Amino acid sequence: MNPIVFDDSLLTRLAAARRVVVLTGAGISAESRVATFRDPDGLWARFRPEELANVDAFLANPVMVQAWYRHRRDIVTGVQPNAAHHALVDLARLVPSFTLVTQNVDDLHRRAGSDDVLELHGNITRSTCIACGESASPEDVSASPQDDPWICASCGGLVRPDVVWFGEALPEDVFADAWTAAENADVFLSVGTSAVVYPAADLPLVAGSAGALTIEINVERSAIADHMDVVILGQAGRVLPALVTAMRTHAAHRSPLDAIPHV
Ligand code: NAD
Ligand code: ZN
Repeated sequence: MNPIVFDDSLLTRLAAARRVVVLTGAGISAESRVATFRDPDGLWARFRPEELANVDAFLANPVMVQAWYRHRRDIVTGVQPNAAHHALVDLARLVPSFTLVTQNVDDLHRRAGSDDVLELHGNITRSTCIACGESASPEDVSASPQDDPWICASCGGLVRPDVVWFGEALPEDVFADAWTAAENADVFLSVGTSAVVYPAADLPLVAGSAGALTIEINVERSAIADHMDVVILGQAGRVLPALVTAMRTHAAHRSPLDAIPHV
C-alpha cells in the first residue's frame, strides 16, 4: 500500500496550530468492529434503533430496551480501541491545546487513553436511575434475572443507559464546551462521521466560519465535505497514525530559525 503523503502546507498549519479540535463519529470505531445501529445482527435486526432508543419505548418495555443496551454494551466492552483512537492520544501530546469531541457512546477513546472527552451522545457503559439519578453499575444487572427490569439498588427506580435518546437534548454543558472549542480552533478535524446528525454536524462548520482549517478524514465524502478545506479519503486507522508520524517528521526537520518571528 502506498504511503499517505500530506501536503506540506497542511503540516505547516498543524505545526503552527495552538488549538486543535477533533470530532469523531461511528467510523472511527469501525476498525474495532463495533456493531453500528444499522448492522444486521440477529436478534435485534427486526427492530429499528428509533423504536428502542427513546424514552417511551423504555417506559413501555424496560426489560427489552435494557436487554438491547446490555447486548450493545457487551459488544463495545468486548472490542479494543484501534490505531485511530491511539493516534489521537499521540496527537494530543503534539499540540498545545487539544479537545476531543465524540458522537460515539462506545467508551473507546477513554479506553485508548484520551482524557476529558466531550461525549455529545453519552456513554453506553454508564447507567443511571431515572428516579434518583444515582449511577448504577453494570455488575448489578448481571445478577438480576433477565425477565425483570434492572432497578436502582437505592430507590427501586428504573435504570437507563447514559446515552442521549431520540427526542432528547444533548447534555448542555458538554455541547457548550464543544461549541466554544470549535469557535476557537485553529485546526478542526472531523473523523469518521457522516455529518448528518445535528447539532454535532454544525461543529466543523462553526470552526470553518471562525477561521479554522477544517479537515475531513473518512472513507467517503460526508454530507459536509464540500464545506471542508481538506478531505482525506481513507480509513481513520491508517490516516491518523500517518498524520501523527508526518507531524513528528515535519517538526524534526523544521529549522530552529523557523521559531523566530521574521520581521
Ligand atoms: P454514521 O454511521 O452516520 O457515519 C459513519 C461514517 O464513518 C460514514 O461517513 C462512513 O463513511 C465513515 N467510515 C466508516 N468506516 C470508516 C473508517 N474506517 N475510517 C473513517 N471513516 C469511516 O456515524 P455518525 O456520523 O457518528 O452518526 C451516527 C449516530 O449513531 C451518532 O449519533 C452516534 O451517537 C450513534 N452511533 C454510535 C456508535 C458508537 O458509539 N461506536 C455506533 C453507531 C452509532
Ligand atoms: Zn434510584
